[in-house]
Amino acid sequence: MKSNTILLRYGELALKGKNKAAFEDRLVQNIRRQLEPFKGVSVFKSQGRIYVESQESLVDEIIEELANVFGLVAFSPAIRVHSTIEEIEQAALAYTQQQLPEIRTFKVISKRADKRFPIRSQEMNRRLGGFLLDHIQDLHVDVHQPDLPLHVEIRGKYTYIYGKDYAGPGGLPVGVSGRVMLLLSGGIDSPVAGYLALKRGVELHAVHFHSYPFTSERAKQKVIDLAQILTRYGGSIRLHVVPFTEIQTEINKHCYESYSITIMRRMMLRIAQELAKENKALALVTGESLGQVASQTLESMNAINEVVQIPVLRPLVGMDKHEIVDISKKIGTYETSILPYEDCCTVFLPKAPKTKPDKDVAARQEARFDVEKLVQEAVLGTEVIDLSPERDLDHELSFF
Ligand code: ATP
Ligand code: MG
Repeated sequence: MKSNTILLRYGELALKGKNKAAFEDRLVQNIRRQLEPFKGVSVFKSQGRIYVESQESLVDEIIEELANVFGLVAFSPAIRVHSTIEEIEQAALAYTQQQLPEIRTFKVISKRADKRFPIRSQEMNRRLGGFLLDHIQDLHVDVHQPDLPLHVEIRGKYTYIYGKDYAGPGGLPVGVSGRVMLLLSGGIDSPVAGYLALKRGVELHAVHFHSYPFTSERAKQKVIDLAQILTRYGGSIRLHVVPFTEIQTEINKHCYESYSITIMRRMMLRIAQELAKENKALALVTGESLGQVASQTLESMNAINEVVQIPVLRPLVGMDKHEIVDISKKIGTYETSILPYEDCCTVFLPKAPKTKPDKDVAARQEARFDVEKLVQEAVLGTEVIDLSPERDLDHELSFF
């Protein structure tokens, strides 16, 4: 007898009323979507819990998938049986035996959510405890710090037997916080910024600026691949690929080399803001950290930020590079990010970029070309690529 159900707990209980219902509904919907490739799985909510029922052979793989669903705080694989004392005893025994030899001590924690069940919780604890001691050698009760806290939850027709919790990813369900536009380069940082934004419950659109033929088709494919990886955590992602060659050429022609990065970023933000408006995104997200490179000083952020009205979120602002790299390895974007294809920023990298650019100087240089027209043309020329999670057919084939 193995686990056939997973009990899920979610947090952020400060949420109340309507928000709470929306939170729960979205979480259930996201879990269903994540588990779509698995056949015969049912997901439902009851009394502040979410239950995932499946056949035993799929439970481990399902838990792996659930680790990518934001909003889940903890999960416990459980054995679900009919609420009869015989079935409960057998399941408790099977569950406990599976935990051997790691555990030496246990404690039964019964909860009778259904008062029609004839045995009271205290009596159930004693009875089941005695049963387990009779059937398993070298096992002891420890009521204070048991290796195995054996939970027995009697809920109407069914009873759930489970032990320890496994930590979930936390955060908020993707979709509850509205939509944002992520500026996604091919680097290490911006995919991590996207992941952290997803963790706070936003739905992602991404925008990439592409300077073909200065940058190759492979550089574009790399960004598509990165966005595809992020769909593991965020469901569908719409990627906007913006033609940026003409703008970079104009900047190179008309502006001081030391200001090219600042002005390039200002153009990126203007275009991203337009796309955000068109797509009902409420903020921009970048992979900037503070002080990492010349364009990421506070002076630089001031000069860049002033061209947009919507918030620019920078989830990496307090992180060191190695922390960002660690996350990118964990979420599976690192190997793609370090592929060597050039990004539009590196192609045009000035020898000595200004670390403290002045926004008025930047604006004066921009007056030398038609900012508005270039922004509109770039928006019009934008290619839209819709990405959704890749489904692994192995799960379905495993039935045959
Ligand atoms: P990353 O590792 O994300 O490329 P970075 O450390 O290289 O970041 P910068 O090159 O200064 O930093 O870029 C800062 C941010 O600007 C990026 O994190 C990204 O959000 C955005 N950005 C840079 N280049 C592009 C691009 N070609 N398309 C879309 N966004 C970009
Ligand atoms: Mg970069």
